[in-house]
Amino acid sequence: MVTTKDELFSELLALQAEISSHLADMDASDDLTEGGTGYTNHPADDGTAVHDQQINHSTYQAAQERLRDVRDALARYEAGTYGICENCGREIDIARLEAIPYTRLCLRCAEQREYNAGMAQ
Ligand SMILES: [Zn+2]
Repeated sequence: MVTTKDELFSELLALQAEISSHLADMDASDDLTEGGTGYTNHPADDGTAVHDQQINHSTYQAAQERLRDVRDALARYEAGTYGICENCGREIDIARLEAIPYTRLCLRCAEQREYNAGMAQ
């Protein structure tokens, strides 16, 4: 079975919807913990609220970055440059796109970049 770019596009749309609703969920739970204006107030949850918020914060940021990547990928699809490596301009392997539909680099460039990042530290 070969995945087409059309299928990857639908997958990106689904991802975008999924992450958006995930972010909306986190926004809603933030309102409850921060404002205290929520209509549900379970005393049992209070002890873990701060801890949860710290986790939520990094999860939230990661989700926002992911959403940005997905939206960029959708924009590239519209522009007709989806699946083309931003670094070397070659076609990204469809297998790599299947694994990470919002990737902007081919495997070679991604590895190169990781290698360089490792060297810089
Ligand atoms: Zn490349």
